[in-house]
Amino acid sequence: MKNIAVIGAGTMGNGIAHVFAQSGYEVALIDVSEKALEKALATIGKNLDRLVKKEKISEADKSATLGRITSFSDLKSGVKNADLVVEAATENEKIKLEIFKQIDEFCNENAILATNTSSISITKIGAVTSRPEKVIGMHFMNPVPIMKLVEIIKGYKTSDEVTSLIMETSKSLKKVPVEVNDVPGFIANRILMPMINEAIITLNRGVADVEGIDTIMKLGMAHPMGPLQLADFIGLDVCLSIMEVLYDGLGEAKYAPCPLLVNMVAAGDLGRKSGAGFYSWTHGTKELIVADRFKK
Ligand code: NAD
Repeated sequence: MKNIAVIGAGTMGNGIAHVFAQSGYEVALIDVSEKALEKALATIGKNLDRLVKKEKISEADKSATLGRITSFSDLKSGVKNADLVVEAATENEKIKLEIFKQIDEFCNENAILATNTSSISITKIGAVTSRPEKVIGMHFMNPVPIMKLVEIIKGYKTSDEVTSLIMETSKSLKKVPVEVNDVPGFIANRILMPMINEAIITLNRGVADVEGIDTIMKLGMAHPMGPLQLADFIGLDVCLSIMEVLYDGLGEAKYAPCPLLVNMVAAGDLGRKSGAGFYSWTHGTKELIVADRFKK
């Protein structure tokens, strides 16, 4: 495994390209948006500068890492030499199925095709290709250069050989891979999202206020942040869409998205990215300020 193609240069794609390049792989970073590519390279440069400042890597390591990343806006040229493709494009089933149909055609027949999807079935993605045994989930966590975990998701037809190769490749990035089967939400989101949804249900039913719920989970469970703050960081639209995947796929009432979450998304309060969620994000300080709507 030497040449890696990363599709999508957004939040996750730039981090994935960064860790592969820093571990010595040649990386083709591909995005339909030139702007996203420019931004990704600038972000990787800044994150590497931080590592140089902390004396974790040298200036020479930084230049070598950047030298191993080439950007492409054309999918075909970007994936043509790839031994492994890691797709991290927008979380939209139609977009992903189309990308997989195309890369199945453009890539060398031995190439492994991985996806970083948070919620779409690996089996379904594999089924649009001629090589479902070589299609696998590599679910990195945000921020990729810092978070150690990679959930490795085995689709219905993913081979054992491909799974163990991807486990080894993840270890070569100094990550800790954990193998899971292809069920809605995999493990991380199947456990995390119902917790966030439950926090929203307790808020909606007036059991406690925003700060109360987050403080209990932070100080009581030693979580680095409370579930409502975390929901604001992830994006309430993303949380809702994952709850819908769990509810549809597992068919149990306990996965029904809280009506408050549904309303907040419909009203455009999506958390940090929209300026308001459970907290207000427009005051420009690091202080956590509860959104007006939830103030007592
Ligand atoms: P993002 O919106 O930041 O970036 C997506 C990028 O994909 C954009 O730059 C967009 O231009 C590009 N893109 C869209 N269609 C494309 C195409 N056809 N070809 C090439 N590029 C295309 O999204 P993100 O947060 O980086 O998420 C990417 C994937 O990672 C999703 O599947 C998401 O579920 C998953 N994921 C996200 C997180 C997270 O915390 N953000 C965590 C784990 C997994």
